[in-house]
Amino acid sequence: MQKQVRVRFAPSPTGPLHIGGVRTALFNYLFAKKHNGVFYLRIEDTDQNRYVPGAEEYIVEALNWCGIPFDEGIGKEGKYGPYRQSERKNIYKKYAQDLIDSGWAYYAFDTADALDALRKEEEANGKTFIYNHSNRSNLDNSLQITPEETQKRIDNGEEYVIRFKIPVGETLHLKDMIRGDIKFDTSLLDDKVLFKSDGMPTYHLANIVDDHLMETTHVIRGEEWLPSLPLHVLLYRAFGWDAPEFAHLPLILKPVGNGKLSKRDGDKLGFPVFPLEWKDPATGTVSAGYREQGYLPEAVVNFLALLGWNPGNDQELFTLDELIQLFDVERVHKAGAKFDPEKNKWFNHQYFQRQDNETLAKHFAQELLEKGINKPVEDVTKIVGLVKDRATFASELWSLSNYFFETPATYDEKAVAKQWKPDTATIMLELSDVLYNTLDFSSANTEAVTKAWIEEKGLGMGKVMPPLRLCLVGELKGPHLFDIMEIIGKEETVNRIRKASSAL
Ligand code: GLU
Repeated sequence: MQKQVRVRFAPSPTGPLHIGGVRTALFNYLFAKKHNGVFYLRIEDTDQNRYVPGAEEYIVEALNWCGIPFDEGIGKEGKYGPYRQSERKNIYKKYAQDLIDSGWAYYAFDTADALDALRKEEEANGKTFIYNHSNRSNLDNSLQITPEETQKRIDNGEEYVIRFKIPVGETLHLKDMIRGDIKFDTSLLDDKVLFKSDGMPTYHLANIVDDHLMETTHVIRGEEWLPSLPLHVLLYRAFGWDAPEFAHLPLILKPVGNGKLSKRDGDKLGFPVFPLEWKDPATGTVSAGYREQGYLPEAVVNFLALLGWNPGNDQELFTLDELIQLFDVERVHKAGAKFDPEKNKWFNHQYFQRQDNETLAKHFAQELLEKGINKPVEDVTKIVGLVKDRATFASELWSLSNYFFETPATYDEKAVAKQWKPDTATIMLELSDVLYNTLDFSSANTEAVTKAWIEEKGLGMGKVMPPLRLCLVGELKGPHLFDIMEIIGKEETVNRIRKASSAL
């Protein structure tokens, strides 16, 4: 029987979740759902110095907002929990011990100061210090002393770490679902610390132990973890466990220039790099979030899905279900994906158009109420329907439709200079009388009446319609003019024409 697919998103709660992290979570989610598997969330909080309060809650909320909830994790305990590594502390020591017993790991007593001095010495010679086969026999570790002596030092309370003993001179042949075959020379690796003096495992040990215990079948994570792959594969070998399959996702690149997308790029170009707004608990600095800026989660998800993947044709809009059906991790690109904030907005525009007018109107009516404007929701629904196609965000509705609610106070000067002729006021006033006497003020009827009158007077559309728009809107923007008239009503229409005619 084939094993059930189990994938995880394993962030460290060191701050708000970067948009790249959201894409990693999304690809894991799509992969899990496509294979009827489980997507779980594991919080990797073994580095207590980097722990940031609120970050874990933020991660959970962000995944929920995106509509890619986890099946197991914090608050959704399954049989593999707890899902917070700090609560699994007691598990890891035993595994570190197992590696010591089997000769795959050793105790190292080197003090931070001693290692620092060595680092500086190497640096002075233009080299980088690495702790491995080349120098471990000259360093202060259990490989140089008897087990009894080691035990004595531990019993005496000397601080130690446990290091992995990387085999020397082996070429590892590894497989990545995206990158294919990769070769690594073990001699270049360092004897990474697995267990720290504070009694906590490092990321590497906890990550491998948990991926094994939680029966992870595929590890899908960012490219920045590729250099850790050989160590991880060796750890599986040392434990005698089957390794999961690995896929390392391409970097998300800056919109302009080279390198990884950073928060600074967002600040500079004015777009968020976080799904939700984040207030730094230490500094109080607030970072913008997609949610608060009015992005729709469907749009963000659709946009992120195409950062580094496409289904092989030029389709761009996908529902989550379609993404699940089409997603194929082996089609993910190796090369980094440029982050294009304009494209992100384009997606939002597309999804914004799909929102139904009534729902939008309900929220918009609330915003209007806050401005002291009380309009029946049916009218607001119609107005939303008329201006929506120009909007990308709900926050733009007001500036796109304010003239429905307020008589223009000013008139676009350029347009006036071009459209308002010496005889315009007379023409407008005459038209206002015609409209005043029109009983049926529906859009279709006022249009018919106005056009018939223009015809009868032999005036031409160009002489009447732009000034009429200036009277009603104050600018030459807006939807079909007679739709506007129907909504603002006869009295307001006539008043606006009269007001403009005397003002201009
Ligand atoms: N805790 C690691 C991170 O913060 C997880 C890396 C992995 O997925 O193995 O990204």
